[in-house]
This record gives sequence, structure tokens and C-alpha cells, in this order.
Amino acid sequence: LVTRMRAFGTTVFAEMTGLAVRTGSINLGQGFPDTDGPPAMLDRAARAVLGGANQYPPGPGMPELRQAVADHNKAHYGLDYDPDGEVLVTVGATEALAATVLALCEPGDEVIVFEPYYDSYAASIALAGAVRRPVPLRPVDGRFAFDPADLRAAVGPRTRAVLVNSPHNPTGTVFTREELTAIAELCRERDLIAITDEVYEHLTYDGVEHIPMATLPGMRERTVMISSAGKTFSVTGWKTGWICAPAALVRAVQTVKQFLTFTAGGPWQLAVAYALREELDWVAGLRDGLAAKRDRLSDGLRAAGFEVYRPAGTYFVQTDIRPLGFTDGLELARRLPELAGVVAIPTQVFYDRPELGRHFVRFAFCKRDEIIDDAVTRLRRLR
Ligand code: PMP
Ligand code: GLN
Repeated sequence: LVTRMRAFGTTVFAEMTGLAVRTGSINLGQGFPDTDGPPAMLDRAARAVLGGANQYPPGPGMPELRQAVADHNKAHYGLDYDPDGEVLVTVGATEALAATVLALCEPGDEVIVFEPYYDSYAASIALAGAVRRPVPLRPVDGRFAFDPADLRAAVGPRTRAVLVNSPHNPTGTVFTREELTAIAELCRERDLIAITDEVYEHLTYDGVEHIPMATLPGMRERTVMISSAGKTFSVTGWKTGWICAPAALVRAVQTVKQFLTFTAGGPWQLAVAYALREELDWVAGLRDGLAAKRDRLSDGLRAAGFEVYRPAGTYFVQTDIRPLGFTDGLELARRLPELAGVVAIPTQVFYDRPELGRHFVRFAFCKRDEIIDDAVTRLRRLR
């Protein structure tokens, strides 16, 4: 294995899901729903397969999906992207992130990330030979936030991009307009590109609004906006994502993407195009259901002794394990099957400085109510 990838072993998601399967534990680790997406969308995918949409789609993605993505971003955010040239379909947000970083960062360039950060960011940056510069998110009044001074201090002469994930996995923070403005100002001042991971764009609660970075003044021209169907339509296995950006940036990303995968699966693209047009009511129902599940799991975890950070978005709850007398989340996560028959994700693996997140563990609530209740009953044994 090349030197720059040696720090990357098996992902924590694979480790923890493997642990859940081996021990028969309830898996509140890896974030995937245990119910399916809208039936008509599933039917559309099946019909696409049987109807012969089974050969290579065009490299940039099927026109139906590119148009649906452009229309969605116009309708929801007032953003105009030309489906021919400013939208690129990818194999999930994961490929979009990797291809974007590989296309835009020279070896030695620096990319700012807010830690804890989703695990693929570090790997994509390393693949490009670039360097990550972490800015910590810390609990402030029950929510994880960054200090603008830390953000400014992270920018240097080699900074090329800021990677912004909102709604944020694993903390559940949804960046406010004020926070996004602080990032945007810096991007404009220092000529940085914003790479935005918006895969949880539809999963925000209590009326909290998701604001795409590209809607801020002067940002559309310097933002690569990334999303995917996995979370919005409960099809994490379909790995259908997209980027929206100015044509020159899309061309750069596509140049890389064509040699990673060339194109993405056809039937899923047609089904997701359909869903983006016709199933947003279904998504609203999903969101309302998830808000209730968030409360259900949060109340249960609190009763079991965890300190709980109420997420404004995503389907994860971040907890502090210290009130239960534990100090190391990774150690606890590895013992949790034996102690309680539950699997969770230790957040420290998403930090460059694990000491900042040693005592946090993340639980997913995108599960049926009876599963959440069962998990909570089991976790009460930790007391
Ligand atoms: N970004 C974040 C923040 C995520 O939580 C995930 C996991 N689903 C991804 C990207 C990857 O998305 P996809 O499955 O579409 O590749
Ligand atoms: N995005 C999901 C999570 O954060 C799953 C990621 C994965 O399995 N790679 O849990």
C-alpha cells in the first residue's frame, strides 16, 4: 500500500457493522435506514431494469437525472444550474467528493475540514497528496460550532478549498447563515473553493432551514455543491449522487470521474430522477418521522445516562459517555455488544486530534421504533 494511504485501515463503519453482524447486536452504528424508499420509485427502478436501461449511460449522467437535479435546486433554493454542463452524476457523494478533491488539489495544497469530519474526506485528501487542516467543532450551548478565529487561523498560502458538510455528520449541526457567511467571506477573500457535502439537505428538524453555500453572495461561482439520493430517498445502496458547479469546475471533476468509474448505474438514475420530481412529499413524511425518532432515541439515551446533543439535522445523535463513567468511545464501542448488545460509532475516529472527541459516541436513529426501543432498553444496562 502506498505510504500516503497507510494510515487508512478498514473503515469504522465496516468494523462496527461487522461487529453487529457477528454478535447479533442492534446496529445503531452505520447510518442506513431499515425501511425502504417510496414504492413508486422502487418500481421505477425495477421497470428501468426490465425495460432495458442496462447499458452505459452517458458520462455526465442521464439527461433525465441532470434535468431533475437542476429543477430541484431551482425550486428549493432558487439556484440555476444548466443541466448540460453544470450538473454531473456520480457514484454517490463519495465519488463526487473524491473526484472533486482529486481534480482541484495539487500535491501539497491544503484543504480545510471541520472536525469531526466524515471519514472519506481524509482519504480523498490523502489520495490527492493534499494536506488537511482541521478546524474543530466544539459543543457550545448544546450544539457543535466552530470559532471563526480558528477558521481564519487555518488558512495559509497553500489553502485551496474548504470542505463544508451541513447538515453535519456526526454532530447533527446545521450551519446557520451567520456561520456560512463567515466561511463564504473567507472563501472570497482568499480565493478558495467551497466543496459542500449536502447529502442530508432534506433531513432538518424543528423548522431549521438548510442553506446551500452556493446561495450566498459570490459563492455560486466558487462552490462545488454535492448531494446524493441515499439519505433523501432511503436508498443508501443505490450510490447515486451528483455535483452542481460552474461549467469549468464540472469539466475538471468530470475529467477525473471518467477514469474512476466513467459513469454511474443507469436504472437508479432514472428512478432518482422520478423521485426528485414526484416524491418530495414522501421525503417530508420521512423527515417528520425522523424528527420523532430523534426524540425517541434522545430521550432513551438520556434516560440510560448519556449526555445527548440534540441534532438539528442528519439521522445521528452525538452523545457524551462520561456521565456513565466511560472515557474512551472507541473502547466502549468495541465492548458495547458484550455490555449491551448494541453497536454505535466512536466519534474520535473522525478527528485529526482524537483527544478532542475521545468521549463522544454516535447513534443512528433511522430505524424502526421497536428497534430504537429495544436498543434503549438494552443500553439501560450500562448504568
Ligand atoms: N457525506 C456524508 C456526510 C455522509 O454521511 C455520507 C454517508 N452516507 C456520504 C457523504 C456518502 O454518501 P453516498 O452514499 O452518496 O456516497
Ligand atoms: N454515511 C453513513 C454513516 O455515516 C455510512 C457510511 C459508510 O458506510 N461508509 O454512518
